[in-house]
Amino acid sequence: MALDAQTLKDFTDSIARFVRERLIPVEAQVAAEDRIPEDVIEDMRKLGLFGMTLPGKYGGLELNASEEVKVVMELCYAAPAFRGYVGANNSLGGRAVLWGGTEEQRERYLPRIASGELLTAFALTEPGTGSDAVALKTRAERRADGCWVLNGGKRYITGAPEADLITVVARSDPASSGGKGVSLFLVERGTAGMVQAKADRKMGQQGTHTGDLYFDNCVLPPDALLGEEGNGFQLTMRTIDRGRIHIGAASTGLARRLIDESLNYALERKQFGQPIAEFQLIQAMLADSCAEHLAARALLLETAARCDAGENISMEASCCKMVASEMCSRVADRAVQIHGGAGYMQDSAVERLYRDSRIFRIFEGTTQIQQITIAKHMIRRAAAN
Ligand SMILES: Cc1cc2nc3c(=O)[nH]c(=O)nc-3n(C[C@H](O)[C@H](O)[C@H](O)COP(=O)(O)OP(=O)(O)OC[C@H]3O[C@@H](n4cnc5c(N)ncnc54)[C@H](O)[C@@H]3O)c2cc1C
Repeated sequence: MALDAQTLKDFTDSIARFVRERLIPVEAQVAAEDRIPEDVIEDMRKLGLFGMTLPGKYGGLELNASEEVKVVMELCYAAPAFRGYVGANNSLGGRAVLWGGTEEQRERYLPRIASGELLTAFALTEPGTGSDAVALKTRAERRADGCWVLNGGKRYITGAPEADLITVVARSDPASSGGKGVSLFLVERGTAGMVQAKADRKMGQQGTHTGDLYFDNCVLPPDALLGEEGNGFQLTMRTIDRGRIHIGAASTGLARRLIDESLNYALERKQFGQPIAEFQLIQAMLADSCAEHLAARALLLETAARCDAGENISMEASCCKMVASEMCSRVADRAVQIHGGAGYMQDSAVERLYRDSRIFRIFEGTTQIQQITIAKHMIRRAAAN
């Protein structure tokens, strides 16, 4: 459902205020403690951030792709850990239940996902299976009584250490290979046979946690199956497409913050008797960052509008994710350069945001996987013409 222009503006304005008054002031604390304070999480719940894109009937804000992009760009003006904390509920975790779930499953989970009462995770990656996701080894076997038995392990899963509900991608047909014979399963925290390992030590984005999951004869009821048996990979790819636009928006929001940090510093810092912003070589870095940010922003808004119009945007979603995440990394690198030695020090925001930005080029498909996906679509389209 599209919001009217004024309602959307009021909402993005309130997110922008929240970012500046509540999130940016606690960023350094969150990074140092690797924990978002409970009162901030509660405020994120009140703003509806856990259910931005879920339908109103389940308590969500029902933002369409264009609205989601604008809101995520505002939210990611703060350190991206805050977005990461609400990310799965809005993206892979929540949307898989929405798109694949029966009405009973939706009613059981979506209102609590939208309110932030339940934290979700989406578990695809495994120790031996990253970019080549269809090579997954986690198995789901159906018993005679209709229950499913999961065995295997997952790696680097965002939210895994604390998630209440995990969507697990597993091979349900042992005779199949590739994307066929793969199904999704909803596994609740505390299910016997599932271990949620402690959090990994990451390069950045402290405050959000990734971790391993282990399944050792983990028995699930028949209604843990999400979507059609054997068609889980299609549902996964559909959710990932929209997730790629979301990550593009997050990268673009963070880039704007880094540009503002760079410009403010360049106007303030004096060398050779003048602000460094007066030097044309500094101006070139600022201008490149500004232009590249605007280009990524335009691509995202256009792709989101086409998604809202019902077009197939698989290729464009990969373009968004690749262009915006690579742009954000270049902007972060220039931000450190413009800050000189100060940008290398751990008490500077740009040092922290530089580390935070690096993951955008890796998760939800590395840049190389986006390149392969884009080229595949180009070749397929050429063959169809
Ligand atoms: C912080 C973080 C959060 C994450 N969250 C989740 C999550 O919530 N759920 C989840 O399921 N996963 C998650 N992941 C996993 C993430 O999606 C994978 O790390 C990513 O897809 C890459 O897989 P990999 O690490 O196994 O790298 P690999 O696939 O081993 O790739 C290593 C390198 O080889 C390149 N490469 C691989 N194949 C090709 C090819 N065919 N051609 C050219 N180059 C290639 C890659 O681009 C990369 O540069 C997360 C990872 C991190 C670090």
